[in-house]
Formats: sequence, structure tokens, C-alpha cells
Amino acid sequence: MYNAPHPLEVRILTRRFGLPNSASIDTYLAHDGYKAIEKALAEMTPDKIIEEVKASALRGRGGAGFPAGLKWSFVPRQSPKPKYIVVNADESEPGTCKDRLLMENDPHQLIEGALIAARAVDAHAGYIYVRGEYRYLIDILDRAIGEAYQRGYLGKNILGSGFDFDLHTHSGAGAYECGEESALLESLEGKRGIPRIRPPFPAVVGAFGCPTVLNNVETFCSVPWIILNGGAAYANLGTRKNGGTRLFCLSGHINRPGVYELPMGFPLPRMIEEVGGGVWKGRKLKAVIPGGSSCPVLKAEETNLPMDFDSLQAAGSMLGSGGVVIIDEDTCMVKAALRIMRFYAHESCGWCIPCREGTMWLGKLLTRFHAGAGTMSDIDLIRELAQNMLGKTFCPLGDAAALPTISIVKKFREEFEEHLNGRKCPHEGKG
Ligand code: SF4
Repeated sequence: MYNAPHPLEVRILTRRFGLPNSASIDTYLAHDGYKAIEKALAEMTPDKIIEEVKASALRGRGGAGFPAGLKWSFVPRQSPKPKYIVVNADESEPGTCKDRLLMENDPHQLIEGALIAARAVDAHAGYIYVRGEYRYLIDILDRAIGEAYQRGYLGKNILGSGFDFDLHTHSGAGAYECGEESALLESLEGKRGIPRIRPPFPAVVGAFGCPTVLNNVETFCSVPWIILNGGAAYANLGTRKNGGTRLFCLSGHINRPGVYELPMGFPLPRMIEEVGGGVWKGRKLKAVIPGGSSCPVLKAEETNLPMDFDSLQAAGSMLGSGGVVIIDEDTCMVKAALRIMRFYAHESCGWCIPCREGTMWLGKLLTRFHAGAGTMSDIDLIRELAQNMLGKTFCPLGDAAALPTISIVKKFREEFEEHLNGRKCPHEGKG
């Protein structure tokens, strides 16, 4: 469920949330629905659509933050091959649960965004690749797609324009790895979900070997508003090079966890205190994972930052997928590193050795360490092992496992030392 709106939110993508039957086409049509595609078809050339998205400074909301309009412009429209639209709805990053709300509460917004992208690159078929655990969302999406066909927003000769576009849902099977775009494409094609070597990138060689626009759910959902209101208006909501709003998923040790739509560049301290109501149980803040579990952690004293891609990168972390995990003073950071590593060890597809073996050995080392059986040299070994994974794997999962581990060892070394010589975890039992 979407939490009640907070007064500091700027509701662009979530503006229809909470309306009766918000997922239905009638509600969507009564609130600006499909007006953007009408405008795009009647008044805009494909180049103009791409220019507008470029002007919006919309950056991919899946994690990498690549400018969406630029990505679309890489699609060779003159290619004789068919072009495809692929929506990455394989939302699996721990701490992230925003795409789920977008699909549950306003599926037509996503359909319209994909449709506009299709018009921009001359694609006539698209797929929404939905995380396996989100199967119930496929019913919602299929219902919405059926409504869009019935009303002439999908299928042949959309709104009498001569433009055709078919959209299908496709279920993943519960693998985190398939959120990586090239592994997702392999899986979509019915193969084992392992990544492809790039280049070529999906814009040129994507689904079924054809040019493909592949973006995250939230990215596509931003497009109708941009087309209706103009790229400049969207850009002005955020900061330079970071246009618009973002759905931040506040979780962990916070009084009011939830998904909040805030302008890009919103200050992190205000997000924690004013939006999230502060750290729970009156405790102090120890650390923040600012963009999902694959991001380096920030210590409390490093959190005075605007939440945009560039500021987080400059601070040595990442904005990632918008999963902001709050960690209180009573949390054991060794255990936090262990929990994160267990996840990545489980999700490693096993294709490349540094990731497959590295996550497994780091999981074992951290388990032993947390149980009090570690040695002083293990602390450096954990960091060295993680360091050796960086940049040596086929896909970003290797880095995703290594980066938080390295940051935790570097920033919370004293907590590792507290576990030496058989000592019991000092945070054990603190809830
Ligand atoms: Fe698979 Fe890990 Fe290699 Fe990615 S980094 S391809 S998940 S083994």
C-alpha cells in the first residue's frame, strides 16, 4: 500500500495514487490519461519526443542513472530490423519497492510511457518483464493492457494515426540477476539469465538481436508528464543534470517508512527527519544505505547531502534504485555486511569466478567473524577479497556485493575489532 501523501512530496508520478479504482482506464482517462500520447502522435515528430525527454534531464531510475533521452537517441531508427521496447520491472534490489506501487496503482501510466517511447524510436512491439515474485502485478498489468486495446490505445492504427504497437507482459522466475539489462534480455528470449558482453549495447543489439529501448518502470512512467508539460518543466523540479522527482523508498530504522515522491536533490537529513519522522525509538543515526543494498554505506556524519546522482557519486556512494535504508546506532555493522553478502552469494548466477567464489567466501568469512571466530588479519582479508572482485566480473553484481562490504570495513573497522577474540557481538539482542 502507498502511504498517505506527505506535505513535502511533489506528486507527479503518484498523483493518481489513492483515487478510487486508480488502476482502471476510466480513472486514468479522467485525470490526464493518454493525453500525452495524443499530443505525441498529433503534434510531435519522433525527434521532437526525444528532444523533449533529453531536455527533461530524466535519468534512468533503475540504478545507473543514464540520461533516458540520450539512450533513446542511440537507437538506429533507419535500421531495417524491428525495434523493441522493454520495460524492466524486475525490481529486486533490497530496500526498493517503488515500481511495484507504480504498476499496482497506475499501470496505464506505464503503458502510456512505453507507448510514447515506441513512437519515438519506431518500435511496434514491447514487453514488460516483471519480477517473478510480483506475479500478482501481471494480472493488474494484463487487465490494463486489455483495457488499452479495447479503447484503441494499443494495437493497430492507434488513435487513427497509422501507428501500431503491441505490448505484452513476461514473468521472470525470481532471479535478481535478471534485473541486469542484458541478463533480462537473455531471459526474455527464453534462455538462462546471464549477462551479455557489451558493447554492443541494447539500443543497437537488444531483444532478439534488434535495437531496443530498455528502461526501468519509473523511467517510463515519467515520460507522459514530460510530454504533457514539457521537458524544461520537469527538469526544473530537480537539480542540474538530475531532472524531476524520484520515488524514494525509506526503510529500516525510521519512524515513518514508506515510498515518497520527492524532487531530485532533496536533502537527505530532511528526508530522514521531516519526511520519515526521524530514527525510530529515539535512537541516533549510525549509517545510511542511500540507494539500495549495492551502494557503499554513508556514516551518519556523511549524510548531509542532496539526493541526486552526482552528489551521491561525489560522496563515494550511489543514488542507485532509490532504496534509502536507515541504520540506527544499535545495529551491528558486521552483521549488516553479512546480511548483504548472503543475499549476493545467493543471487550470484555463478557465471564468473570472482563473483561466484568471492561472494561465497566472503559470506563464510563474515559468518565466522560475526560469531567471534575471526582474527585481526581477517579484517584486511575481507576487504582485500572484496577489492579483488571490483571490475572483474561480467555484470555489476560483483561490484554490488563488493562495494558495500569495502565501505563497511573501511568505515566501521572498530566494530570488526570488537568481535575479535571470541567476544560476543556487542549489539546482539538489541532490537
Ligand atoms: Fe553472474 Fe556474478 Fe558474474 Fe554477474 S558478476 S555474471 S551475477 S557470476
